Amino acid sequence: MKQQQVVILGGGSAGWMTAAMLSKTLGPALDLTLVESEAIGTVGVGEASIPPLALFNQALGIDEQAFMAATQGSFKLGIRFEGWGQPGERYLHAFGPIGKDLGLTPFYHYWLRSQSQSGQPLDPTTLWRYSLNSQAAEANKFARLDRVPGTPLGGLVHAYHFDASLYAQYLRRYSEQRGVRRVEGKVERVHLHPVSGDIQALQLADGRRIEGQLFIDCSGLGARLIDGALNTGFDDWSHWLPCDRAWAVPTQNTGPLRPYTRAIAHEAGWQWQIPLQHRSGNGLVFASRYLEEDAAKALLLENLEGTPLAEPRLIRFRVGRRRQQWQRNCIAIGLSSGFLEPLESTSIHLIQSAIMRLVKLFPAQGGDAQALRDEFNRQSQVEFEQIRDFIILHYHLNRRGDAPLWQHCRTMALPDSLAHKLALFQQSGRLVRQQEELFTETAWQQVMLGQGWLPESHSPLAQNLSEAQLEEFLANYRTLVDHAVTQLPTHGDYLAQYCPASKSNTEVPA
Ligand SMILES: Cc1cc2nc3c(=O)[nH]c(=O)nc-3n(C[C@H](O)[C@H](O)[C@H](O)COP(=O)(O)OP(=O)(O)OC[C@H]3O[C@@H](n4cnc5c(N)ncnc54)[C@H](O)[C@@H]3O)c2cc1C
Repeated sequence: MKQQQVVILGGGSAGWMTAAMLSKTLGPALDLTLVESEAIGTVGVGEASIPPLALFNQALGIDEQAFMAATQGSFKLGIRFEGWGQPGERYLHAFGPIGKDLGLTPFYHYWLRSQSQSGQPLDPTTLWRYSLNSQAAEANKFARLDRVPGTPLGGLVHAYHFDASLYAQYLRRYSEQRGVRRVEGKVERVHLHPVSGDIQALQLADGRRIEGQLFIDCSGLGARLIDGALNTGFDDWSHWLPCDRAWAVPTQNTGPLRPYTRAIAHEAGWQWQIPLQHRSGNGLVFASRYLEEDAAKALLLENLEGTPLAEPRLIRFRVGRRRQQWQRNCIAIGLSSGFLEPLESTSIHLIQSAIMRLVKLFPAQGGDAQALRDEFNRQSQVEFEQIRDFIILHYHLNRRGDAPLWQHCRTMALPDSLAHKLALFQQSGRLVRQQEELFTETAWQQVMLGQGWLPESHSPLAQNLSEAQLEEFLANYRTLVDHAVTQLPTHGDYLAQYCPASKSNTEVPA
């Protein structure tokens, strides 16, 4: 069978993740070429992930220890949001469950009932006493743990912090071993078919032509193919998410290695801190209409924990998505497909998810792909919009006083989908996860409660225990969580024995 010629433009995380997965799953059917330009380089940020990345690596046959050692990785149990409600407040969006459901009744409603029968105002902070992820994170503890032995507790649910450029290098070796051809060069022209408008070839600065039947645009924020050549429209969401710039800078590590990302709210944006084994990644995401670039840079430098290891780098972006992520014979994956700011570390997940969608809907050679395109675009739109709503939620629920960014976000009109979720939760304590929605009810609850959006009632299902039974159940659960945390090693100690970073440990699976 003749192989289908597939050309990937871009060698950042998106490009090499795509090359690795296509070569692994569809390798014999495809002739894969990846074009990248060292002169242009990659965006160079994107180091915090969410738990599903482990599944992507597993599907590639990549061992977790090898991955972490090769990418200077550390473990992540959640994201700590500091100052998002009011300055001085903080909460964790912890991965994994909180408490244990009993039959049909979600744990959360037992906790709400207990709060309502205490005679005191609802104290949201007590919810996290029932989250093993949260308690371990606050104690800087970690171990890989599927279950807590001898208890009804599940284990810890983790994601990774990792050096994205080392991950791309790792996946490059992986892909080249599987026959992916890498071409170094800068694309200067894109040739379109005069009748169909499909992309026929990429022309490099030195005149070489790279022909293909299917093109994957992983060219980053520049979107060289999907936008530059095909002019696909863009849905701009900056009225909901006004941040449009970031300064990024690495620093030396100080103190114990935290098993969580920090997201610290400031006057006109927020600061991230991502601990890796060899350094920390830091940045300030901000809205340039409320804070000038130089002032933002100074703000970031004033608020770093460790010594900077390089000059801060400025990244300009636009929040929103391409109206069609698959247009003609071109599929956009990664930053070229759109961008949601990194507050919930979702961009690499969007890459992973787009790749898996492409693998499942991959077009046959020469066939009509219109229905596949429509399905791909429909799923991509739903996914982007659901994540968008979750990110807007953090901004909207702020109680940070009168700084213009925060005031705008508190008073802005919301997407209907988000307004409905907020009303449902406030009236009834209920949340309904849409089919295949990435973020769980537990994730939404944590942000809402963490930022002071409190429900007025709870489910009558939680009446099925007596008051005494309920309090005993909750007290026992707290004891189990506290005990489990005392048994865990520190995150730093665990990393040192499980996956110490090693320059020589770069072997990729055969
Ligand atoms: C401030 C910020 C913070 C972020 N933090 C996170 C995070 O914590 N977690 C997360 O999941 N995501 C995060 N992201 C997103 C993450 O960085 C990206 O999703 C990820 O790096 C993938 O980028 P990419 O491969 O699409 O683009 P890039 O890394 O920019 O790669 C683009 C590639 O295309 C090539 N290219 C472009 N034009 C041409 C041309 N004309 N010819 C040849 N080659 C070309 C470039 O050389 C490069 O190889 C963040 C993004 C930003 C902006």
